[in-house]
Amino acid sequence: MVGEFEIKEEDLAGRIGILSTLHGNIETPTFFPVINPVKSEITVEDIKKVGFNNIITNAYLVKKNLNIKSHIHDYFSFNGIIMTDSGAYQILQYGEISISNKEIVEYELEIKPDIAVILDVPTGDVKNESDAKLSVDETLRRINESLPHVRSSSDQIIWVYPIQGGRFLDLLAYSAKYSFQFDEFKMLALGSPTVLMQRYEYVPLIDMIYTAKSNVTRGKAFHLFGGGLPHIMPFAVALGVDSFDSASYILYARDNRYITRDRVYRLEELEYFPCSCPVCSKYTPKDLQEMEQKDRTRLLAIHNLYVIKEEINAIKQSIKEGRLFEYLQQKAFSHPRVYDAFKSVLKYADYLEKFDPRTKGEIKGVFLYNKDSLARPEIKRHERLLREKIIHKADKSANHKKRVVITCEDGYYDDINSEVEVYLLNPFYGPIPIELKNSFPYSQYETPTIIDDEIIEQERKKLKDFLYDMRDNISSISVIKCEKLHINSTRDVPIELFLDQL
Ligand SMILES: [Zn+2]
Repeated sequence: MVGEFEIKEEDLAGRIGILSTLHGNIETPTFFPVINPVKSEITVEDIKKVGFNNIITNAYLVKKNLNIKSHIHDYFSFNGIIMTDSGAYQILQYGEISISNKEIVEYELEIKPDIAVILDVPTGDVKNESDAKLSVDETLRRINESLPHVRSSSDQIIWVYPIQGGRFLDLLAYSAKYSFQFDEFKMLALGSPTVLMQRYEYVPLIDMIYTAKSNVTRGKAFHLFGGGLPHIMPFAVALGVDSFDSASYILYARDNRYITRDRVYRLEELEYFPCSCPVCSKYTPKDLQEMEQKDRTRLLAIHNLYVIKEEINAIKQSIKEGRLFEYLQQKAFSHPRVYDAFKSVLKYADYLEKFDPRTKGEIKGVFLYNKDSLARPEIKRHERLLREKIIHKADKSANHKKRVVITCEDGYYDDINSEVEVYLLNPFYGPIPIELKNSFPYSQYETPTIIDDEIIEQERKKLKDFLYDMRDNISSISVIKCEKLHINSTRDVPIELFLDQL
């Protein structure tokens, strides 16, 4: 059924899904290359050869410059999936445009893209909240106005519900929440962040994505307008973005800029191509520099598309393996601004934990590195488990005290019985009830042999807080083999005394 979105795999709040359209299914996360209907150095055939079966073009530019009356697929001789944007980006660039929402929507019905956007009013990067509110309200008015057309064509076209509000997160949340009233719109999209992305302002961008995503249903595909640079994509996906579109691959190419998965180079900076796509295998940077501008642009654009495709695949593979967090960690060090994006995503660790699948089929082990790893869903979940244990104990038998054994190495405690509670102390997880040691994720993790001091400090504090909250249920504490966490071995020390020493 057109507009159906099926989630196949999940990791953090990201997912691999299948979106059904009239011209076939798209596997998400995916990228829609922007193709200018009027002038482009690159053809749809070029784009297809890179491996994209979905493109986005602009209904406003098509109408204004070509005014074709037939199907958009025929115009491009393309049988894949076509999305049409509406001219909102042109409003963002040039202010008003000379066409109404009603005209655009009616025109889209005529040219029949698979996915269509109404003419929303982008908030852009306005500094004034009342201006931002105007864009949100006017967009909502236009959503309402489009309803009869959306309803009549929803078996053929996936209509996109545009979310506005810009940096004003309350407005953004309001705009996002309103989507629950419009089930006719089968896809959601966050508008306006293009400007932020161009300036590498990733902190507000991540806040915007989180705010929008946490106020809409998870059952619909979620598009991010813009977002054509591979270094930011995995962070957006981790929060639940399913698709991107951008013209950056061609705009950058025109400016002799060469995109890699980590950064953007100027062609003249490169002695070697760090890529083996068909373009980079065949030519050297010098070859491209000596070419005619038009040919060079085309080839650079093709390379840039290959890189975007590679990035999307790497993200999907990470989701499949349950390693998206580790992928973000790796990616974070590609640029200080990307590190900003990573840190901003970590602010939403509880949200990531909420949607992260509890067990991951093919996972081989959780890799824990440094303080950032403490934001992983597995660790967050463990902290919650300990809190629940404390509450449960406090409710139950306040006067029943047990001996507690803390050990950092498995297999060193004796006489385990119902009067003893044993915890394996791990520098990242903190105390792990020994009965859980063979279950995921406690049985499958790797840490460095050199643990950062700040981790050790933090874990001593976690242990102390835990024991303090449990103190009414503990008679004495023994510690075995925890010297590497700077805790001396002791035998049956009264709890109060131990807490003083810790
Ligand atoms: Zn290449």
